[in-house]
Amino acid sequence: MLDLFMTTRTATCSCGKLSITCEGEPVRISICHCLACQRRTGSTYSAQARWPRASANIEGHSSEYVLTGDEGGRARFHFCPTCGATVYYVNEDMPDAIAVPIGAFADPSFPAPKVSVYELRKHAWVSVPEDAEHYD
Ligand SMILES: [Zn+2]
Ligand SMILES: [Zn+2]
Repeated sequence: MLDLFMTTRTATCSCGKLSITCEGEPVRISICHCLACQRRTGSTYSAQARWPRASANIEGHSSEYVLTGDEGGRARFHFCPTCGATVYYVNEDMPDAIAVPIGAFADPSFPAPKVSVYELRKHAWVSVPEDAEHYD
């Protein structure tokens, strides 16, 4: 059902050939400090938002890389074959959900993360929103 009042956001890769449009507010917004996320993003933590798979519409071709996280969970990362930017991923134990790296929306007004995981691996200078749920 198309809801005319629903927020719609589009995330794209660097070159614009791969995009995902998500309808409605995300069901979860989190950051992860694990080493797998650090290496994958090239940053000091990952930030991502999750939607039900049915609320997301993908356009363009992607390549896939299956990554095993610090605790053994596997996720399928989809990135643009031209520019290499990851635009979405699916955790194998959560096939009905889709996660999008927040930076791909290029929207500084995107809502703040509510959950912070793997803080054991957090860089000392990184600060997390006070009201977020914290997990080691
Ligand atoms: Zn691209
Ligand atoms: Zn992680």
